[in-house]
Amino acid sequence: MRRVGPNSFTEIYFAGCNPSYIETSDGYVMIDSPQQPIDAVRWREMLEEKAPIRYLINTEPHGDHISGNAYFTNTTVVGQVKLQECFDRYLNAFGSLEDKRGRYKQMDPDSVWLVGHPDYPASNPPSLTFTDTLTLNAGNHTFNIIHHPGHTAPQTSVHVPEEGVVFTGDNVFHKCRSWLQECDPWEWLDALDRIAALDVEVIVPGHGEPCSKAYLKEQAQIVENWVGFVERHIERGASPEEILKEGVPVTKQDPYPIGQRLFMHDERLTGLIVHNLHKRIIDKKQAAGTRAG
Ligand SMILES: [Zn+2]
Repeated sequence: MRRVGPNSFTEIYFAGCNPSYIETSDGYVMIDSPQQPIDAVRWREMLEEKAPIRYLINTEPHGDHISGNAYFTNTTVVGQVKLQECFDRYLNAFGSLEDKRGRYKQMDPDSVWLVGHPDYPASNPPSLTFTDTLTLNAGNHTFNIIHHPGHTAPQTSVHVPEEGVVFTGDNVFHKCRSWLQECDPWEWLDALDRIAALDVEVIVPGHGEPCSKAYLKEQAQIVENWVGFVERHIERGASPEEILKEGVPVTKQDPYPIGQRLFMHDERLTGLIVHNLHKRIIDKKQAAGTRAG
């Protein structure tokens, strides 16, 4: 557990995202939930031993940020309105209960008994939603919850001014491979500018070590590199399949290793990124053409 502010902590050593919490004078506020079921229940007991968990705020719909919600049955879950809409669809994309049990038998036997456990029947999506921003208070702390679409459409940052910290989810991947498989890259760049404008000292990324604002430029460069790479191929009329067949120089766009334990789908990710950006760039050109015509 890493301290990132006077009362703020993040766990960067779990498989999955960086779940985090702030200890207020009136209980805990969590940002995202531990991915592995055994980590989620241990984490919950550790916190609830001292004080109740008032809120669990999700930053995005990817399974590594939301699948642990099921184990926080007494906590109010907060999320952007689009995240509430797509919550179960994203969870189901992680596979059926049987698929999950099979996977955990391989990679995390301690979690198997918790998959589909009758004490945790609900997926626990957000019940408290917002569109653009929402401010919550707990004890003496303020939680400015801000819609920053980019990495995903419902992407959300949580700014805690008393701590000088912002939790960005996967709009920031600190020195590990950036996932652009469903992003709107132009919104992402805009979100990085908006994060840079916040009065904070520490950024807690979705993955990787906590960092400072200095890294945001590098994160933006990685997004721009990928867009430029796919654009150059579109200009000569290449399809996503042709780009992939020729071989993608991944580390020229993004120098960092995948960096996520228990995750092996390196090449699959590259394919998803090229397909997503190819479609986004073509759609954008067509929209611009329609406007001009
Ligand atoms: Zn993500």
